[in-house]
Amino acid sequence: MILILAPNTERQSDEFRQLMAYLDNLPNIKTRLHEESGAQQSLTEVYLIGDTATLSIEDMEALPAVERAVKVSQEYRVLGRHRDDQRSTHFDYNGVRFGQDNLNVFAGLCAVSTPEHVESMLRALQAQGQVCTRMGAYKPRTSPYAFQGHGKACLPYVFELAGKYGIKVIAMEVTHESHVEEIHSALEQTGNPTGVMLQIGTRNTQNFELLKFAGRQQQFPVLLKRGFGITLEESLNAAEYLASEGNRRVVFGLRGMKTNMGDPHRNFVDFSHVPVVKRLTRMPVCIDPSHSVGTRDRGPDGILDVFQVTAQGVVAGANMILVDFHPEPGKALVDGPQALRLDELEYFLEDVRLARETYEARVKLASLNEISEVNE
Ligand code: PEP
Ligand code: MN
Repeated sequence: MILILAPNTERQSDEFRQLMAYLDNLPNIKTRLHEESGAQQSLTEVYLIGDTATLSIEDMEALPAVERAVKVSQEYRVLGRHRDDQRSTHFDYNGVRFGQDNLNVFAGLCAVSTPEHVESMLRALQAQGQVCTRMGAYKPRTSPYAFQGHGKACLPYVFELAGKYGIKVIAMEVTHESHVEEIHSALEQTGNPTGVMLQIGTRNTQNFELLKFAGRQQQFPVLLKRGFGITLEESLNAAEYLASEGNRRVVFGLRGMKTNMGDPHRNFVDFSHVPVVKRLTRMPVCIDPSHSVGTRDRGPDGILDVFQVTAQGVVAGANMILVDFHPEPGKALVDGPQALRLDELEYFLEDVRLARETYEARVKLASLNEISEVNE
């Protein structure tokens, strides 16, 4: 069970002390506190763990400082959607909203190649009014002999250029906790010109120590990608690791599954799970069409498969798109064959806009039909 306390309840207040004294006396029940500090108010939630079956919602809601009580299932306690659970499905980071009700595009370089490429990319994004990007500095590669990313050496110029072009959030993969520290120091060194969303990639979805570390730090939100060869439930539990350690600013990323059955795409596209993740949890859902499809193949109608699956994800309600672009895909150090070109950025964004408009129209249509069902 979760007790949601009245906004701005102070831990020193009499109500809070009375509440905790009462809870501490309940047999076989442990408590765990979660604090969420927003710009306007701070929210405290008390998690009751153990023998909670006999507790009634009414009794709990009558306790001092408690605004609401929610019964939770065992699964995804912090990030899950529970019955009668009206906790928020969004968070703000560096002026950008990440929610189940909006959409952000993170177009950018799979791997940072040169400062010139970074600058061309960011200039193109600014020209299209974009404030988010992806920039890989630490690349987990299948072969130990492949380029591993420029690492911390590229961070200062990436961050400075991001500031110059008004970029507010960069999705950047980390594979080790030292990378988080390097990102933190480089941001400090450059005067925090931008923000970073830590990306935990599909190869590390169940790297529990990395998850715990990224969960304990509160500075950066995290994009956790689904594991390519594990169940959805296992990946959602991995996300819960982040939240259970204290970081709830988590976006869940779909990036296709390995099937190894001679598929036309690099991975089997799993964007039909966008609504599933939104139903099971309160996380915004990201789609990665580039790593799902992995090619620039197009259909007889002339539409690239990367565009097709993006539209499919957006029409289904995706909240974030992570997509590879490169000013010179032939010179990309990683994943050039799947990268879109800068002259395709405007077209891509327009295609996304059409899909999003369709999604919003479909939500309206669904709500109208819900009303007519009630009236029957
Ligand atoms: C990436 O986004 O650059 C990446 C390596 O993705 P994934 O972890 O999905 O393979
Ligand atoms: Mn890649």
